[in-house]
Amino acid sequence: MRAITLLSSGLDSVAAIAIAAESLDIEMAITFDYGQRAGKSEIEYSRKVCEYFGIEHRIITLDWLSEITTTSLVNMNANVPSLSFEDIDETAPAEITEASAKAVWVPNRNGVMLNIAGAFAESRECDYLVVGFNGEEAGTFPDNSFAYVQAMDNAFSYSTHNGVMVLAPLIKLGKTEIVKRALEAKAPLEYSWSCYHGGKIPCGECESCRRRARAFKNAGVKDPLLERLGI
Ligand SMILES: [Zn+2]
Repeated sequence: MRAITLLSSGLDSVAAIAIAAESLDIEMAITFDYGQRAGKSEIEYSRKVCEYFGIEHRIITLDWLSEITTTSLVNMNANVPSLSFEDIDETAPAEITEASAKAVWVPNRNGVMLNIAGAFAESRECDYLVVGFNGEEAGTFPDNSFAYVQAMDNAFSYSTHNGVMVLAPLIKLGKTEIVKRALEAKAPLEYSWSCYHGGKIPCGECESCRRRARAFKNAGVKDPLLERLGI
């Protein structure tokens, strides 16, 4: 079985590629550049992840997507929300993480990316698209949910000749379980970049940084990225 993977270099996509590589032949990883703040870091780290696994890396630029979105991930005049650990706790009001998700939402981003990757998968006769969608983010991002994966499988059964399927090994997992499973699969987490911002070191305060930090703390291990960066 062969697969193509979506790779942003975030914790989830790096974990997903490592887990998928245990049983599948990964043909290629695709990283999308839509003008996001962290784009440079994501591309550099994704390249290192691909070198680690010895797989082809393709970068696809989506200039038009950066033009039509007002998301804070692209718009430097908009604020990426800073959250506390209390803000991401289950007991916190849902409005906080809903507002954060809204601030970083990009119009149909996962839909666009999956459909582009689906075209590559069909052309190379690959059976699967590997993604890092996960249970924790599905709470505020419906395009990370199991229902969405099923809907895309259904759509691909019409739009691809070989019936490409979405493989989401983390779909039921929270971030703590993802960290544990990623380490078991020997994922190169020292080259995973989760921060919504770019730069040399992660900000530590955006929702993505907070969720990652909480996951490593709960898993009882140090973050290999922070160790490598000497933080
Ligand atoms: Zn951050």
